[in-house]
Amino acid sequence: MNHPDIDFEDEYDLHIEGEFISPEGGEYQPAVDPATGGPFTSVAVGTPADIDRAVSVARTAAAQWRDVPAAERGRLVHRVGELIDSHAEELAAIESKDQGKPLSQARSDVAGAQRYFEYYAGAADKLEGRSVPAGPDQVDFTVREPYGVSAQVTPWNFPGNLFARGVAPALVAGNAVVVKPAPQTALSTLSLAELCTEAGLPDGVVNVVTGPGDSTGEALVSHPDVDTITFTGSVDTGQRIMKEAAETVTPVTLELGGKNPAIVFPDADLDAVADHITTAIFTNAGQVCSAADRLLVHETVHDELLDRIVAIAERYDIGPGWSDPDLGPLVSEAHFHRVREYIESGRNEGATLLTGGEAPERPGYFVEPTVFTDVTPAMRIAQEEIFGPVLSVFRFTEEQEAIELANGVDYGLTAGVFTNNLARAHRLTRTLEAGTVYVNTWFGDTTQTPFGGYKQSGIGREKGLEALDSYLQTKNIAIGLEDETDSLPGA
Ligand code: NDP
Repeated sequence: MNHPDIDFEDEYDLHIEGEFISPEGGEYQPAVDPATGGPFTSVAVGTPADIDRAVSVARTAAAQWRDVPAAERGRLVHRVGELIDSHAEELAAIESKDQGKPLSQARSDVAGAQRYFEYYAGAADKLEGRSVPAGPDQVDFTVREPYGVSAQVTPWNFPGNLFARGVAPALVAGNAVVVKPAPQTALSTLSLAELCTEAGLPDGVVNVVTGPGDSTGEALVSHPDVDTITFTGSVDTGQRIMKEAAETVTPVTLELGGKNPAIVFPDADLDAVADHITTAIFTNAGQVCSAADRLLVHETVHDELLDRIVAIAERYDIGPGWSDPDLGPLVSEAHFHRVREYIESGRNEGATLLTGGEAPERPGYFVEPTVFTDVTPAMRIAQEEIFGPVLSVFRFTEEQEAIELANGVDYGLTAGVFTNNLARAHRLTRTLEAGTVYVNTWFGDTTQTPFGGYKQSGIGREKGLEALDSYLQTKNIAIGLEDETDSLPGA
C-alpha cells in the first residue's frame, strides 16, 4: 500500500550547507512503513566526520547569520512558513507514510510547523535587552546574543512539527542549527531543511545529519563546538545527553515526556470529558508526550464515564495513515513490542481490561485502543510512560487523594482537571505538579503557550516566547562615565 502522489527516492542523503550529500561512510539504513512493516526507502547514516563537517559549517554560518538585520532574519523565517503552506499536502503525505499517523493528523502537524515559523518570525526584531539603572557613574544595559551552534535531537512522534518547534526560534535568535532526527522518521525533516534553503536562508544555517542516536546523535551532542542542545525524547536518553553536555558545560533544553493525569469530578460534563480524553490518549496512537494517559475518576461517575469512553474506543477504525483512520500503527516494531509488553504487565499486575489489548491480525504495528481500570499506583502502567494507545484509569473519593495520585509519579509535563467548580479548579491548578494544567480541555492550540516539564519531564521551555530563552544568552554591558580628563592636569 502506498500513499498517493509521493514518489519516494531510493536513498535520502544528509543536508549540509544547503546541499544533499552522501554520508562519509556510504552507509544507508532502511525506512520502514509502520503500516506494513516493509521498507520503502533508505536514509543516510551520518558518521562522526559528517557531524564534524555539519558543526563546522554551522559555526561559520552562525557568525554571519547573527549579523543579518533582525527584520530580514524574520522575513526569511516567515518565508519558510509560506513554503511549508504551499507544500502542505506533500509534507503531510510524507509524514503519514513515514511515521504512520492518520493523514488528517499529519496535516495538522504540518499546519503547526508552518505556524511556528510564522510566529517566531514576528519575534525576530523584538529581542530587546534592558537598561539597568546602575547609578550616575555607569551606563548599564543588556543585549541578548545567540549562542552560535544549536544541536537539536528530535524524536519520531512529531518529526516535522518538532523540527519547526526547535529550529524556528533558534533561527530568529541568530543561531545556526544541526538537527539529528530520529532514524525511523527522517524524511519530513529533510524536506523541511530543503524548504529552508529554498526560502533563502544562507547555506549552512540549517543542516540535517541523519543516523542512529548512539552513534550519530552522540557525536553531535558531545561535539565541543556545539553551543546549546535541544532534545526531546526519553528520560534515559535525556540524562545521557546531560552527562555528555556536562563535559563541555553546554546548556540543555530537555523535553522528556510525561505520565499525565486527567482528574474528573462528578460535576463535569461527562460527554465532553469522554471526547477530550479519547482524543487526548488515542491521537497519534498515544505517542504523544502530553497524552492524558492516566485518568483519575471520582468513584460516583466512574462507570458512567468509562461506558462512554469504551463506546468511543470501540468505534475507532484502525488502518494505514493514508486511509485517514481514527488510529494508525505504532512507529516501529521495537515500539510495538514495548507497548504490548506494557499491556501484558497491566494484565499480570491485576488491572481490569475494559477494551482492546490486542494487536489486530494484519501486517504492520497496530495495537487496539486499550482501556484498563482498577489501576493502582504500584503498577508499571501507573508509573511508566507507555507511549501507546493505552489508558490507565484510577478511582478516587476525596480531592486530596486525587492530588496525591496525580503528583505521585516522577514526571510532571501536563495535567488536567474536569470540573465546573471554579474554586476547585483554581485550587488544583496550584497544587498539580506540571508545566501545563488544562481545565475542561486538553491539547488546544499551543504554539504561543510555553511548554515543558516539572520534575523529570525536563528542563527549560519550548513554544511561546519563553522558548527563545533557550537560544539567547544575556550579555551585560557596563560603561563607566567617570571622565578621566577630569583628573588630568589643567583639565
Ligand atoms: P529516545 O529518547 O532514546 O530517542 C529520541 C531520539 O534521541 C532519537 O533520535 C534517538 O535516536 C536519539 N538518541 C538516542 N540516544 C542518543 C544519544 N546518546 N545521543 C543523542 N541522541 C540519542 O527514545 P526512543 O525512541 O528509544 O523511545 C523510547 C521511549 O522514549 C518512548 O517509549 C517514549 O516513552 C519516550 N519518548 C518520548 C518522547 C517525547 O515526546 N517526550 C518522544 C520519543 C520517545 P535512536 O532512535 O537511533 O536511538
